[in-house]
Amino acid sequence: MFVTELRCAICARTYHPDDVAYTCPTCGQAGTLDVLYDYEALAQAVTPQTIAQNPDPTMWRYRALMPLPADAAVPPLAVGGTPTYDAPRLADDLGLAQVWVKDDGRNPTGSLKDRASALIVARALHAGIEVVTTASTGNAAAALAGLAASVGLPAVIFVPASAPEAKIAQLLTYGATVLLVQGNYDNAFDLAVTASERYGWYNRNTAMNPYTLEGKKTAAFEIAEQLNWQVPDVVVVSVGDGNIISGLHKGFVDLHALGWIEHVPRLVGVQAEGSAACYAVWKANGDPATMPPIDSHTVADSIAADLPRDRVKAVRAVQQTDGAFVSVPDDAILDGIPALARLSGVFAEPAAAASYAGVRAALDEGHIQASDRVLLLLTGNGLKDIKSAMRVAGAGHPVQPDIDAVEQVRVSLGLPTLT
Ligand SMILES: *Cc1c(COP(=O)(O)O)cnc(C)c1O
Ligand SMILES: [Zn+2]
Repeated sequence: MFVTELRCAICARTYHPDDVAYTCPTCGQAGTLDVLYDYEALAQAVTPQTIAQNPDPTMWRYRALMPLPADAAVPPLAVGGTPTYDAPRLADDLGLAQVWVKDDGRNPTGSLKDRASALIVARALHAGIEVVTTASTGNAAAALAGLAASVGLPAVIFVPASAPEAKIAQLLTYGATVLLVQGNYDNAFDLAVTASERYGWYNRNTAMNPYTLEGKKTAAFEIAEQLNWQVPDVVVVSVGDGNIISGLHKGFVDLHALGWIEHVPRLVGVQAEGSAACYAVWKANGDPATMPPIDSHTVADSIAADLPRDRVKAVRAVQQTDGAFVSVPDDAILDGIPALARLSGVFAEPAAAASYAGVRAALDEGHIQASDRVLLLLTGNGLKDIKSAMRVAGAGHPVQPDIDAVEQVRVSLGLPTLT
């Protein structure tokens, strides 16, 4: 393993990985930790060529660049290796030279969160841990429940009782113990922290556990490798806790430090107008470490966060890459669902589809130029939240089982006959 130490994102104190499990003991919960590597030794041991020769298409093809002991077993589910599609009609629609979409909704439980949970479960198994826990708006929970089920590890999940039904169905089906919190994500988060302190359960809480980001960064590795190490100019991704955007940043920074890519893409973080804490603090040039919580409300449940847990790193990711945050209203988020589906063939849940409204806002605000090569990271599957999709999907056409009725509809819609 090439990990050297953990470093606080606020005070830069460093810790031996065996000494601290979660956040910086000095800075508390805002002080999320970066996992540091010996890049020189890594560059000796692994190259893009050795990775290209690895037949494993999953995220574990990059395991040398991950914080996992060489002898650790990994869960059997195929996480990562999600496709990056060229999307020329989407590019035309947006007035951009080049657009790709990466469909992370193809992961085993339907979201990018599987990347984090797979690494957490692998680490838990290696450490002989007997119970894992997490708080989640839904997807991280489904991911932990699914990955834990794949190896028979008990999981205790704290979710807001208001989470979309499909996500709760996943948790229950995977056999996790599901605690339906009568409150919001932030309440669930605090409960999971207290429970893990009191009972010794290993806590996957996003960002508080430094290894969630290390799993998510594999999305950046895949983007780079899938595009032949010619990374996009801009990567657009939605932001709730800010752990995914921080993970993308770390992944690209790792590759840049290794000399495998020439530049780190500008990162554009998309927030829902009703849950835009990172956007607000970035815009005001404020201090994310000390900002107060907001009262978040958005249809995109996966990016609802009163106090984004990885806000320090998320703001840093945007600032250091010369990127931007944008804030988009819920109706634009919902309109992105059919837009993406129709223009790229990928059905995304609201939080993921927010990237469509986000790229439009970033174009309007001058953060993205027409000549930029842009990748939209689609973080979750549309089947996660059918109710939201149905609000914007349109309606079918009822017909009697009779071809004359079909003919009436055909004529009214102007559908051609090809005979
Ligand atoms: C969790 C999640 C996000 C946001 O990730 P953060 O790390 O919370 O910023 C975006 N989209 C989907 C589908 C998610 O599940
Ligand atoms: Zn600190």
